[in-house]
Amino acid sequence: MYDIALKHGHVYLDGGFKKTNVYIKDGIIACITDAILDANDAVDITGKELFPGLIDPHVHFDLDLGFIRSKDDFVGGSKAALFGGVTTVIDFLEPTRDKDALLPALKRRLNEAKDTYVDVKFHACIANPKGDLKTYVKTMKSLGLNTLKLFTTYSESNRRTENQAIETLLTLSKSYDFLLLAHIEADDMIDLNPEFKAKDLPLSRPKEAEVKEALNIAEMVEKTQGYLYMVHCSSGTTIESLKARYPNLLNQHMFVESCPQYFTFTNDHLTGINGHLYTCAPPLRSQAEQDLLASHIADFETIGTDHCAFNAADKDTPYLKDMPLGIGSIEQSFQIMYTKFGLKMIDKMSKNVANRFKLEKKGQIKVGYEADLFVYEKSDTKINPPHGHTDYNLYKDLPVNGQIIHTIKSGQFAVKNQTLCKTLPKGRWLSS
Ligand SMILES: [Zn+2]
Repeated sequence: MYDIALKHGHVYLDGGFKKTNVYIKDGIIACITDAILDANDAVDITGKELFPGLIDPHVHFDLDLGFIRSKDDFVGGSKAALFGGVTTVIDFLEPTRDKDALLPALKRRLNEAKDTYVDVKFHACIANPKGDLKTYVKTMKSLGLNTLKLFTTYSESNRRTENQAIETLLTLSKSYDFLLLAHIEADDMIDLNPEFKAKDLPLSRPKEAEVKEALNIAEMVEKTQGYLYMVHCSSGTTIESLKARYPNLLNQHMFVESCPQYFTFTNDHLTGINGHLYTCAPPLRSQAEQDLLASHIADFETIGTDHCAFNAADKDTPYLKDMPLGIGSIEQSFQIMYTKFGLKMIDKMSKNVANRFKLEKKGQIKVGYEADLFVYEKSDTKINPPHGHTDYNLYKDLPVNGQIIHTIKSGQFAVKNQTLCKTLPKGRWLSS
């Protein structure tokens, strides 16, 4: 007797659909067969699509910016994630300068995430490091962390990592088998004019800063043959330039992520009365840049959200210098990207993320894999009111090609018929 049967659905297997039945037992995908077998909870999903639970590689729940925290914590944020078909997220430790700060940073985050309803992995985060980088990396690995994020900018808050350290970390990424993540903008091209407002964000953080630094880092990746993952690529010129100059690095040594906001909104949105609601870093780009970005969709390894949600009033400050930057989209990301790009989105939001970040038995519908799944019903519809903790969402009411009906997490319904289940499976920390 199986726990759950999902019968007659269009099941996403090996890059396409197959009409079959999926059976779940003890949190695992136990059987995929055309036969009808007994199950305690048999759900007919005829005409609907069954996908692997999504893995969002770039999330900021309960992020402490010093003067404010992001509004979705691990409880509210993970509930919103489940409505969006997301069953695993990768969040970040606070930036650390030396190895001794890593364990306290991890403990703090594990405590903040203790009541999560989705599984959580953490990227370690380094800022203007002091001391021996090899020891730092060894400590990081010993704590069960195998990804490390750095910033090439934010020198004003002492978070920038300089080229020499980046090169060392890239070299170490080979010998110590970890993936280096980078927030890529050329620090010397960022203008933090205190009088800049939301509409000035493209002047403050121009696309040229991203393009220049991406090529600079790519040169270091080529020299060291290390492994680098570029977070939140915002401009089409960046990915086009990388592909033109370093075709052999892309998706071999250098992996690029983009986010739904860069395919959905443009910098025109920053000029209106609600421009502050659209601020994020790197910023939204022009329509031409968005079109170019979309034309390179095949070159992106993953789609992450950079989910960092605030209330409208939090962002309603006259000047950029006082404004928390960030947009929330964890619940809407799949609908938006699937509507725009179709089936080619699935692996970029599940299998590729699992592979890149070494999440075993996740990201695919396969016998023996974790039973993290969601059911999608195609229809001409629009984005539902969101379930997160914030009082606005930029994606609300946008037209999409369907709705997420059920989400199954660890072999248990978490969302059923678009309603959150009373008993939710608890999420767990995924250490490496
Ligand atoms: Zn981010």
